[in-house]
Amino acid sequence: MNLLILGGTTEASAIARALAHDARFKATISLAGRTRQPAPQPLPCRVGGFGGAEGLGGHLTTHRIDALIDATHPFAARMTRNAENAARLTGTRLLVVWRPPWRKQPADNWIDAPDMEAAAEALGPAPRRVLLTIGQKDLAAFAAAPWHHYVLRSVDPPAPDALPPRAEVIAARGPFAEAAERDLLITRRIEILVTKNSGGGATEGKLAAARALGLPVVMVARPPAPQAETVATADEALAWVERLYHAQPRRGA
Ligand code: NAP
Repeated sequence: MNLLILGGTTEASAIARALAHDARFKATISLAGRTRQPAPQPLPCRVGGFGGAEGLGGHLTTHRIDALIDATHPFAARMTRNAENAARLTGTRLLVVWRPPWRKQPADNWIDAPDMEAAAEALGPAPRRVLLTIGQKDLAAFAAAPWHHYVLRSVDPPAPDALPPRAEVIAARGPFAEAAERDLLITRRIEILVTKNSGGGATEGKLAAARALGLPVVMVARPPAPQAETVATADEALAWVERLYHAQPRRGA
């Protein structure tokens, strides 16, 4: 069975590891090419966009892909929409791995924001020390509120002209443990955090640390849930692949 995994997440890497030594599957992982040194992959890897839904559809057909697994990040909404459209255009089976969002706990002080502009606005008019863990793509809203002091953490440092003035940059790749997150919040004298509601355990430590320190968290809401069939975990995705394998007619039978 030919599989294409759209990656860039912990779940995609876990699926890739599990399929790498299973001779029943010929799987490839696809990365957008956003990070300079992506983690090594145990499967053949292609890098870069496909050229929209049509481009992805062409790839599915040319490579005779039997099933597409979209294991991209919950905020990679354009890619997921393209995967849905490409699967429909070509009649390819599609599964989306959509990890559950984080849920507010009683001791949390979350400020919900529908988007990055609202998140920047929620920081208010008085200067604050802010930890930004939103990646590199959405810094414009914060550059437009330059009176805050930003500490920005992302896998690669953003281009200097995208940064708010005086921003400190920490280049680091998760997972991040709660104790280290607590140290970071204390040593950098952070007063408020801004994060996307990414869900998952790898970056959840900052929420527990903020809770323990009584710090507010601006929580940016997710894009709408996918329309396609979804599962929450890599293990569930592997079970889906297994079912599909047993359901498909044997080639040559
Ligand atoms: P996006 O806005 O949904 O996608 C923009 C375009 O990037 C897509 O239309 C597609 O280009 C290309 N693309 C995205 N994922 C791809 C993949 N796995 N393989 C090949 N092309 C891909 O996505 P994004 O938010 O920029 O995220 C890019 C990648 O980073 C994703 O793989 C995602 O899993 C990972 N990531 C994202 C976040 C986040 O917060 N957004 C966090 C962690 C990891 P074409 O239209 O040309 O095909």
